[in-house]
Amino acid sequence: MMRSVTLGRMTIQKVFEMESGPPMPLILPGIAVEDLQRVAMWYQDETLGPTPERSAFTMSMHSYVLQLDGLTVLVDACNGEHKRRSIPDVDRVATPFLANLARLGLTPDDIDLVLCTHLHFDHVGWNTRLENGKWIPTFANARYLFSRRDFEHFGKQELEDDNLRAFRGSVLPVYEAGRAQLVDESLVVHREIGDGVWLEPAFGHSPGNFSVLAEGGGERAIFWGDVVHHPIQLTRPDLTMAFDSDPEMARETRRRTLARAADEGLICFPAHFRDPCAGQVIRDGSAYRYRFLPQSP
Ligand SMILES: [Zn+2]
Repeated sequence: MMRSVTLGRMTIQKVFEMESGPPMPLILPGIAVEDLQRVAMWYQDETLGPTPERSAFTMSMHSYVLQLDGLTVLVDACNGEHKRRSIPDVDRVATPFLANLARLGLTPDDIDLVLCTHLHFDHVGWNTRLENGKWIPTFANARYLFSRRDFEHFGKQELEDDNLRAFRGSVLPVYEAGRAQLVDESLVVHREIGDGVWLEPAFGHSPGNFSVLAEGGGERAIFWGDVVHHPIQLTRPDLTMAFDSDPEMARETRRRTLARAADEGLICFPAHFRDPCAGQVIRDGSAYRYRFLPQSP
């Protein structure tokens, strides 16, 4: 489990939900044996084999809790519970998410702000919970910020898929309860003389994916949502990930985000890396590698 990370006045902790490991070629077509050999130099994962066909693209589903100056922010909201999905791994799952939140000493009522980096089903699930047959906001005291671009995109979508189901069950009820604020990126959420929490556009995986940046008198943190899903993408940022809605834009955003993270020494909190998650992007020839933050015992 990722330890609490302190950056200046800010602490960041992970709330784990579950893992999923679809076959590598299904999610990252084009990945080669050499890419697996290259990533193995700095990333150990027992689900990576010698060939793409014998490897899984194992992703963790988790949220982050960021605390700064009395403000408690939840970044992303995983799959939720009782949610009907077509993907068996996440269909009506029951997970220890709220118990894991409680292990941090927090109840849903302690969350002030929910930031969904984008509105895919695995980032909005816990926004709502079922009560007497109705979806109601889980975080009763929170303001929720949703990307306007994603909200409008999924609001108009006609294809009945898991993202549309998630929009109806995990996004719209929050909006209708008056708890949601639709945001255009570049919004400063909380700022106190030169630092705080803010959003920046990171489009491509979804139409409105945004990165959350945060700083509290120490190193700067980035939560890039689904710009990068798995460490192996650092060796091949050029490859399209199966669920990128605009592959060309997603590739450009991935390149830009990784270059910036490396050049500015950002502390990264990826949405789907397995433990220990937090780390830094390092340049490695024409690509990158990842240095996980050292974990105290
Ligand atoms: Zn995701």
